[in-house]
Amino acid sequence: MSPIIVQKYGGTSVADTDRVKRVADRIARTKRAGHDVVVAVSAMGKTTDDLIRQAGEISVNPPGREMDMLLTAGERISMALLAMAIQEEGLSAQSFTGSQAGIITDEVHGKAKILDITPGRITGALDDGHVAIVAGFQGVSREGKNITTLGRGGTDTTAVALAAALGATVCEIYTDVDGVYTADPRIVPTARKVDRISAEEMLELAAHGAGVLHTRSVEFGRNHGVDIHVRSSFSHHDGTWVIAHPTQEELMEQAIISGVAHDRSEGKVTVRGVPDKPGIAARVFTALADANVNVDMIVQNVSADGTTDMTFTIPLTDATLAKAELEPLISEVGAAAVELDPKIGKVSLVGAGMKTNPGVAARMFSALSEAGVNIDMISTSTIRVSVVVNEADVETAVQAIHSAFGLDSDTPVLVEGK
Ligand code: ASP
Ligand code: MG
Repeated sequence: MSPIIVQKYGGTSVADTDRVKRVADRIARTKRAGHDVVVAVSAMGKTTDDLIRQAGEISVNPPGREMDMLLTAGERISMALLAMAIQEEGLSAQSFTGSQAGIITDEVHGKAKILDITPGRITGALDDGHVAIVAGFQGVSREGKNITTLGRGGTDTTAVALAAALGATVCEIYTDVDGVYTADPRIVPTARKVDRISAEEMLELAAHGAGVLHTRSVEFGRNHGVDIHVRSSFSHHDGTWVIAHPTQEELMEQAIISGVAHDRSEGKVTVRGVPDKPGIAARVFTALADANVNVDMIVQNVSADGTTDMTFTIPLTDATLAKAELEPLISEVGAAAVELDPKIGKVSLVGAGMKTNPGVAARMFSALSEAGVNIDMISTSTIRVSVVVNEADVETAVQAIHSAFGLDSDTPVLVEGK
């Protein structure tokens, strides 16, 4: 058997049939260079957004099962067209849905987690000399046998999970940017491309808003020893290597700070006047967990007069769900009110060097203060400091922090559409 390469192509890379042909050409070169090739492909261009819009024209709250059935159709189109285009290159290719590829998930529609991969049909296709094309961002649920999706951007996870299951050591993620940047170049035109980054740091950046990689794909890479090469499908340049297990030497050479991420997709929930007694936090967060709401920063202050406020952030897409869970709880636990503020943004500074370099948080907060940005909430991990600020201050905050840590380059990146 030849060494297996798994490649992922994003929606922009297959936005029209000409681009599909170009991708087929790149795949054909890889195959002819002596690799077995497995491809995970996203829906063409804005297909997924269009399907979501159409569903919204029919129902304000479409059933998750039907929503997933609808959205997975986008990837079925691109996978079949891509297989045809590869055949036009004189090679053979077969496309597979996530379910056919053996991607088994839990039952949670819209954000299912991969539980297992049984890629027998994929290895069979490779053995027969085909290029295997797999529809991105989808699987089939273990119990209900329903079609599920892995969340927006989930094709990255399809690719890396397949790479792990097939024993590939590298997964190439082809996208419309040259790699991972020290900040979003649309906000910071002097952001720099990062050549190498540890999966540990990339995980923090992705989880806190860097849209270039689906968070769970980085987790898969780290847990299964798959290095990810994020690169542009429009050039042949090297992109960014996300290293699952950096060597000691690589760790020594790491920059103190790897980048600044931002996220406007969360809202802030405050439960006011919560009685200060055991069991209340457990009640609140169990209710949210049972409804599959991902809670992020949690802050609770010391109590005054026996009550306290509890504040946390959640994805805005879960806001309706969270309110429905929390409102009945208010009177039950004797809290005063629950409020949602959607106009927030989170800005995070990530770098493994924070573990050993004191003063990083202080420098970050000084930069924000000099830029006149008020900090609403703060949370940290060993390699990250995050702040919640007013949504209108996000850009200023990212720029201020980026320059305070000397991340700016001299040459601005040319960004499409800005
Ligand atoms: N087509 C899906 C989306 O737009 C999955 C992906 O592109 O990764 O989110
Ligand atoms: Mg993406």
